[in-house]
Amino acid sequence: MHHFIYRKNELYCEDVPIRVIAENVGTPFYLYSHATLKRHFLIFDEAFEGLKRLICFSAKANTNLAVLKLFESLGGGLDIVSGGELYRGLKAGFSPDRIVYSGVGKRVDEIDYALDTGILMFNIESLEELELIDKRAGLLKRRAPVAIRINPDVDPKTHPYISTGLEKSKFGINTETAIEGYKVANKLENIDIVGIDCHIGSQITEAKPFEEALESLKNLINELKQLGIEIQYLDMGGGLGITYDDESPPHPREYAKAIVKSLEGTHLYLILEPGRVIVGNAGILVTRVLFRKSGKNKEFVIADAGMNDLMRPTLYNAFHAIKPVVTTEDPPIMADVVGPICETGDFLAVERKISDVKQGDLLAVMSAGAYGFTMSSNYCSRPRVAEVMVKDDRFYVVKDRQNYEDLVAGESIPPFLED
Ligand SMILES: *Cc1c(COP(=O)(O)O)cnc(C)c1O
Repeated sequence: MHHFIYRKNELYCEDVPIRVIAENVGTPFYLYSHATLKRHFLIFDEAFEGLKRLICFSAKANTNLAVLKLFESLGGGLDIVSGGELYRGLKAGFSPDRIVYSGVGKRVDEIDYALDTGILMFNIESLEELELIDKRAGLLKRRAPVAIRINPDVDPKTHPYISTGLEKSKFGINTETAIEGYKVANKLENIDIVGIDCHIGSQITEAKPFEEALESLKNLINELKQLGIEIQYLDMGGGLGITYDDESPPHPREYAKAIVKSLEGTHLYLILEPGRVIVGNAGILVTRVLFRKSGKNKEFVIADAGMNDLMRPTLYNAFHAIKPVVTTEDPPIMADVVGPICETGDFLAVERKISDVKQGDLLAVMSAGAYGFTMSSNYCSRPRVAEVMVKDDRFYVVKDRQNYEDLVAGESIPPFLED
């Protein structure tokens, strides 16, 4: 059941023609389907039926408050990687005991904020971080619940920029050092060891790497038990991939199967941190064609959305399907779909067969719900675009488009430059 579908010759989001939204809010904008977000969350959660579990949505994939609030209302938790995401999570109404905090570079003020809030656990990524958290907890007279993020050295076979569980990556602590880390943690006065954690990468399209990582974590849990250290939460991170083009990642049920089988009958409480698999295909970026032009051997479609709005194509060479919002009878063309930014890397698609769109036509850049808006920037002083959520036959602007004043907010000219 898809919620971005053509009816006759027009693309709809649920029961709303996307053309109508564009006429109302202008372009470009991100568009999310409430029904798809909800369905993806529930399918993922229900795949782990039978286990004690908490699905902590990975905020960095999509931090819009409306999106976060939806997952909160469905019983989800939140995986955060910054103080800003903690702030958003609390704004969206997440109970602190449903928030886990990952990331290699937590600052003192962020640690204090999380300690004061009383989150479920810190996923620790270095021994220095562990010691700092213990110290801060002591000063603030708080207990610090922690898991150590293990780097299990498995190859997730994904883009190198989003592989995080290899020995050479900056994330987590290798299995040998981890035991040392737990021994240290066990002696620290203000630390409570509650979990073990890993996150091996993103856009992973096979189940095997997850199974290998799980084995590695279970072995460690047993080793720790010998040392008298009891693990309560097993956090398997996120990383399950989606179909952008022709990938065929395991269905969440398939992904869950091995994990459920391996954990059934244990006392372990499972935490998962899915991001992309929940929101990726629940959102699109809608852009309008500004111009067409013909190069020497190339056609260009110049859109009003660029790399600052959707960074994935230029950052990872990522593929996003591009569809016309209103279809035409004309034969398709081969073209580069590019944005208005002054960079050669500013493209949404290269040498792509697309509909023969003309000036003023609308394009839907598909699968843009994850790492779309959250990675966007104001480069070239382009206001950040609006975000819209559709539910049934209504649409809601869930983030206003920035205006020019927003662009200079907080900037000032020092007196010595004033004339
Ligand atoms: C980014 C991230 C996730 C989510 O990854 P997806 O591939 O979007 O599922 C989960 N956990 C951590 C620690 C992350 O950094």
